[in-house]
This record gives sequence, C-alpha cells and structure tokens, in this order.
Amino acid sequence: MAESRLSLLTSPALSYVSSSPASPWATYLAQVDRVMPYMGDLARWAGTLRRPKRVLTVDVPIQLDSGEIAHFEGYRVQHSLSRGPGKGGVRYHPDVSLEEVMALAAWMTIKNAAVNLPYGGAKGGIRVDPALLSIKELERVTRRYTSEIGIIIGPQQDIPAPDVNTNAQIMAWMMDTYSANVGATTTGVVTGKPISLGGSLGRVKATGRGVFITGREAMRRLKLPLEGARIAIQGFGNVGANAAELFAMAGARIVAVQDHGGGVFRAGGLDARALAAHVAEHGSVAGFEGGEALETEEFWTLDVDVVIPAALEGQLTEARAERLRARLVLEAANGPTVPGADDVLAARNITVLPDVICNAGGVIVSYFEWVQDFSSFFWTEEEINMRLDRILSGALAHIWSTAERHKVSLRTGAFIVACARILEARNERGLYP
Ligand code: GLU
Repeated sequence: MAESRLSLLTSPALSYVSSSPASPWATYLAQVDRVMPYMGDLARWAGTLRRPKRVLTVDVPIQLDSGEIAHFEGYRVQHSLSRGPGKGGVRYHPDVSLEEVMALAAWMTIKNAAVNLPYGGAKGGIRVDPALLSIKELERVTRRYTSEIGIIIGPQQDIPAPDVNTNAQIMAWMMDTYSANVGATTTGVVTGKPISLGGSLGRVKATGRGVFITGREAMRRLKLPLEGARIAIQGFGNVGANAAELFAMAGARIVAVQDHGGGVFRAGGLDARALAAHVAEHGSVAGFEGGEALETEEFWTLDVDVVIPAALEGQLTEARAERLRARLVLEAANGPTVPGADDVLAARNITVLPDVICNAGGVIVSYFEWVQDFSSFFWTEEEINMRLDRILSGALAHIWSTAERHKVSLRTGAFIVACARILEARNERGLYP
C-alpha cells in the first residue's frame, strides 16, 4: 500500500537521461541494483544514489585565435555530498556528455567512500577536442569554464582535479581563475596542481602507482607471481604508462599496449620507457619499432596473465569477456567493464579488480594535496607513497574479505563497503526540512 503511493509520487526516472542500456549511467545504476539487497534498512535511501544531487550545464564561449566565437558545452555534476565536499576530475573530450559525467561523478562517490576519504563525489567535463585548440585557446576554455562552475566549486564545496586530457597546467589556470574571482589565492580549490602552486609530490604518478599497488595485492592473493607476469594494457596516458613502468620495474612483462591510434605487441616485453617516449613524440603507440603491430580485437584475445583497461568506459564488452584469456583484470580506467561482461568474467573465474579501488590512488594523493594546502605543510614523496600504499592495501583487504564473506564479486564487495558508508552518513544527516 505505502509502496504503491511512493511509486505513484516519486518521479519515475530522470527526465534528462536517455536511458540507453549501453550508457555509463545505466552501467552505474545496474551496479547499484546489485548491492541494495545487502543494505538492510539503509536501502530506503537508495534513491539518493540513483540520482545526482546537483547537475550544472554551462555554455563556455571563447574567442578563437582567428577572432571567431566558439561555444563548448561544459558540465559539473555533484553526485553526492553526504560524506563531505564533492571531489573528482575534469575531462576534456569530444564525446563527453552529461550522462557520462553523471556516471563518473557517481563512481567518485563510491570510490571516495570505498577508500574512506572524507568526500562525496563529483565530476566535470567539457565537450571539446583539446588537440584542435591552440595553447591560448585551451587556456581561455579552461578559465571560462572555471568561472562558469565557480558558483558551485570551492575548497569546502567541490574540488576538481585532472582526468582524461587535463593536467597540472590546466589545474594552475583553474586555481588562478577561481582565486581571481574570489579575491584570495585559494590553492585548495583544485588538486593535481604544479608543485610550485601547492601541488603534492607523487600526485602525477599516483593513479598508476595505485594500479600497481592494488594489482600487486590482488596477484599475491591469487598466487599469481609478479615476476614474469604477462600484462596487456589498453591506454597509455598518464595512468597506463605509469602503471606499466612500475609493473616492468617489478619484473613483469608488458607484452601489449593498445591506444586510440593502434596497438603493439612483443612477447618478450615492450620497453615501457621507450614506448612512453614514442607516445610523447607521436601521440600514439602506433608505429613503435620495439614491437609488432596488433589489431584492435586481437588485443582482447591475447594469452596474458593480466589485462589493464586504462582508457575509457565500456571497453570490456560481453563479447570481449568471452574471449579474454587473462586471469585478472585491473580496472585502471573508470567504468571499463559493462555489467554483462562482469557476469561472463565471474562465470569464467576471471577476477576483476574494480575501478573504485584499482584507480583510487589518484584521488587519495589529491586528498593528501588538499590536506597539505590547508596546513601549508608539505610532506616528502616517501611519506606520500608510504601512506598511499597503506590506505590502498588496507582498503583492498577490507573489500576482499567483504566479497568473500558475501560470496560476491570484488565490485559488489567494494560497493557494499562504500554504499554502507554513504547511506549511513545520509541516514544520520537526515532530511531537511
Ligand atoms: N580523475 C581521477 C579519478 O577518476 C582523480 C580525481 C581526483 O583526484 O579528484 O579518480
């Protein structure tokens, strides 16, 4: 009775969502559905996870170098603020959409709670191909976007950071623009800044380092030796390249790397540093002479121990999951595996270490940066790496045992840990009015 009144009253679905079953937002919702049976009484708050708290869409007009006026669509989504300020990166990509940013914001909520950072979750993006802009145009886009979202960001409100195609220089412009608008240098408004502006040592490599740390811990539990392990990586940006270097240093072999331009393979292991230098010069791994070319679909069928998707969402489809020959998937990207593929991989006994723990190293060191900015006291890189290792290893152990106890996947285990924290906070705060 009460339930039918509730379902009659509540807006059925978000009017601004396309509800395409293949969208990242649909993936996120399916992941939330799987965890609600474990939430007990807290499940009555489930609706707060199924819709973002706040969505801002902005027009970003800039003058091009030619004098013409171009417009870009920008977003900042605060999915949840129950456990603290919003936190999450800003992505520049021609395919960015509101729905994608909503999903990425929601995954930040889960990630921050899974590793117990005192944050909610947020994400931003601009629908732009930064490769087509001059450096001056990139700066103007960044500054105008920052001004437009300035009404909802701030060191205690919501703290942006780098993501796909954004970096320390862009964070410096964001910090400067926000500071100029509020009339006070406010280093804590963004993280991932240059060291000279209150950035943290270890932040650039933190996400890749976190993939290595969590990968190492997962492999130890699966009795997969690191030494000689064969690894295939999709995406060779900041995350993929830094993870590759650490795995190679630990004795693993990076046998294949694929990116938007093509793929390369070498059974004996690619030289990760030389490959990174090639990418810096040519923009892609394609044409790298230290290996042979690899077709797109071949990448997903390689005989390897570990596959690391470190690019965009939705890459590990059901069809690719059926053919995958690895023992372990390390989700360095956000949302790389669709829910149907999760089921296929579970049935095939292939372990998936989910994004919300695997790539949390970046936001953990962002948290360290934010704390250092507030105290104006900066830590050594050793201390940062040591604390990062401790937080990630501890979170992974907790998630692993939760998954074992409930006999669920590591993703559902991570969501159980995170959603219990989020919904408990939500419940304790109560509703206003
Ligand atoms: N963009 C990164 C992520 O997806 C880092 C976010 C942050 O440092 O706030 O986790």
